[in-house]
Amino acid sequence: MERLKTKIRDIPDFPKPGVLFKDITPLVGDPATLRLAVHQLLHPFLEQGITAVGGIEARGFIFGALVAWELGVGFIPLRKSGKLPYEVRSISYQLEYGSASLEAHTDSLGPGDNVLLVDDLLATGGTAKASCELVESLGATVAACAFVIELDFLHGRERLSDYTVHSLVHY
Ligand code: 5GP
Repeated sequence: MERLKTKIRDIPDFPKPGVLFKDITPLVGDPATLRLAVHQLLHPFLEQGITAVGGIEARGFIFGALVAWELGVGFIPLRKSGKLPYEVRSISYQLEYGSASLEAHTDSLGPGDNVLLVDDLLATGGTAKASCELVESLGATVAACAFVIELDFLHGRERLSDYTVHSLVHY
């Protein structure tokens, strides 16, 4: 996966001072690495009976929609609050400072769905854990969480210990 790392750029002090942001825009802008990332994300789950892919706003939409396309299943957007037009199920979670929420349409998933969650990056795991709980609150099962990047030093994987976690590159 070293090839993917060559297309992930470090941006110091974004979005605020002291943060070193992993920028995936060079990776998605390059057809070969985009294709490689999408195939590596979905490869372990080809025979797992996935019925839907949940993508976490916003960069999870890019990878999630392509993974859904390749698996031949539907794409379910998990969005920040106030963005979805129909009736929603909401879940709140803690950030470093304050809280945030994620929403899904109440009719987007249900019992019988086996969902692959996709996002670009696993940091503390708060976003992904809330996403798993949101999917489960609709009666669906989380098959696994798949990330392009995992920041090992933030131990997000420990928060997701009840789930299968698949990451392509580690820092
Ligand atoms: P967590 O909830 O695991 O702490 O944060 C993960 C969420 O924040 C993901 O949705 C991810 O897109 C975003 N995120 C946090 N840090 C970075 C970063 O350095 N680069 C990118 N691309 N996304 C980040």
